[in-house]
Amino acid sequence: MLIEGKLGEIRQQTGELVVVSLFEGDNKIGERTAALDAVIGGRIQALIGWGDFKGRLGESALLYPGVAGLADRVLLVGLGKSDEFDAARERQVAATVARKAQSLGITTFATVLHGASAGQLSHGLAAQALAEGTILAGYRGDLHRTVKDDEDPGKAVERVSVLVENEAQLPEVESGIRAGQVIASAANWARDLVNQPANCMTPRALADEAHRMAVEAGLGFELLGPEEMRKLGMGALLGVAQGSAEEPRFIVLEHKPQGQTGQPVVFVGKGITFDSGGISLKNQDGMEKMKGDMAGAAAVLAAMQATAALAIPMWVIGLIPATENLPSGTAYRPGDVLTSITGKTIEVISTDAEGRLILADALGYSQRYNPKAVVDLATLTGACVVALGNIAAGLFANDDGLATRVETASRASGEKVWRMPLWREYAEQIKSDVADMKNTGGRPAGAITGAMLLSKFVGTTPWVHLDIAGVSASEKDTPVQPRGATGYGVRLLVQLLRDWH
Ligand code: ZN
Ligand code: ZN
Repeated sequence: MLIEGKLGEIRQQTGELVVVSLFEGDNKIGERTAALDAVIGGRIQALIGWGDFKGRLGESALLYPGVAGLADRVLLVGLGKSDEFDAARERQVAATVARKAQSLGITTFATVLHGASAGQLSHGLAAQALAEGTILAGYRGDLHRTVKDDEDPGKAVERVSVLVENEAQLPEVESGIRAGQVIASAANWARDLVNQPANCMTPRALADEAHRMAVEAGLGFELLGPEEMRKLGMGALLGVAQGSAEEPRFIVLEHKPQGQTGQPVVFVGKGITFDSGGISLKNQDGMEKMKGDMAGAAAVLAAMQATAALAIPMWVIGLIPATENLPSGTAYRPGDVLTSITGKTIEVISTDAEGRLILADALGYSQRYNPKAVVDLATLTGACVVALGNIAAGLFANDDGLATRVETASRASGEKVWRMPLWREYAEQIKSDVADMKNTGGRPAGAITGAMLLSKFVGTTPWVHLDIAGVSASEKDTPVQPRGATGYGVRLLVQLLRDWH
C-alpha cells in the first residue's frame, strides 16, 4: 500500500473517493470542507442541519455529488468531541475509513488529515496515526484459508493521498506517514507470526523468519541451538524444551548503527511456540490459543525490524528464547530442579509455568551486554488477565525511571500498560525448600510472583517486564484490530526508542 502526503484542495479531488471529517457538535464546517460543500450544493451542511450527521466517533455518511471535476463519492466521517481527539482516535477513524473503502471495493482515495487543524495533535503525529490505522485495518488473519469469505470484498486499498493545506507542512506529514507505515507493517507481520498455527510456527520456523527479516533489514543475527545452550548452561530453557521433538532455538538480533557505543537496550520476548502446559497439562478448553504463546517474541522481532527500517540511532539487542512446551517421556517434571545460566537453581512446581524459566536464561544472557535497560514481553500469566482484562499489559519494574519511560511511550503509542507492585514481601511465595526458588507461588498474586522470579535474573540492571497475556490477542473485531493476534508491543517498543534521547 502506498500512502503519500499531497498538497491539494478537497474540492479539486477527482477519482473514486474523497474523505472529509467533522467533530461532534461542530455545526459550522471548516473552510476547506465548506469550499467542497459549495460545489456540491450544500449537501454536507444539509445533513448536519437535519441532524442526520452529528460527528460522533465512528459515524459516517456517504454522498454522491454527481458533479464533474469532483470525486465520485464523498465520505463524511465523525471524529467525536474535539477535546477528546488524540492519536488513538486518529488511528481509529483512519481504520474505519479504510474498512469502508474496502467494503466499497475502492482501491484509491484521498483524505484530509483528521483533526490536525484542531491543534491537539501535531501534523506529524496525526499523519503517523492515520497511516497506522489505514495499514492495521487492512490486516487479514486468514492465512490458511484457500477459499475466501463470500462477504469479503477482496480488494485491498492500494493508494491513499493525505491532503495537506500548505507546503510547509508537507515534510512533517511525510515523515509521519513513513514512520506509521513502517511501524504498522511491522505490527501486521507480528500478527502473522502469532496467528500462524504451531505446526507451521515451530522454534526453527520462527528462527528462519527472524533470519530472513534480519538479512532484509540489515540486522546482526546469531542463532544458538541445544549444543550452544548446553555450553552456556541454559538449563532452564533446555529443561522446558526436553519434552519436545522440536529443537529449541535462541535468537539474537542486533541493531548497532555506526558510532553507537556505550550500553545497549535489550528487548527479550517469550517464544513458546506452543504451550500445552507439559506434564502439568492445561485444560483442553481454548488450548488451541496457546499457539500464540510466542506473541512476546513476535513483538520483539517486529520492533527490531521497524527499528532498523527507521534507522533509530540507538544500539538495540533483541533476544528470543524459543521452544515448545509438550508432555512426553522425556519431558521435565514437577519437582525437577533446573540450573539456569546464572547458576541459580529453580524447583519446578508446575511445568505450565515455563515462560519464566526460558526468560530466566534469556534475562541472564542479557547481562553479558551490560545493558542500560532490559524490557521483556511475555504472555506470562492468566493472573494478569484476571487483574487487567484485555485492555492493558501489566508493567513490573525494578527502576522507576525506566517504568516512566515505558508509561510515556504507552500513552503516545496507545498500547496501554498499568504498573503493578514488586514488593519484596511477594518473594516469600516463591521460596523453595530444595532450590534457590520455585517456579510458582500459588494462586494469590500470580502475575506478581511470576515477575518476581524474573527479577532475580537481571541483577541491578534497569528492567521492565510486560505481562501481555491479556492483550496479545483479541476476541473482538474492530477496524484497527481484527479478531486474533494484535501485534501488541511493536508500537510501544518503537516509541520507547524514538523518545529515548
Ligand atoms: Zn504455560
Ligand atoms: Zn506459556
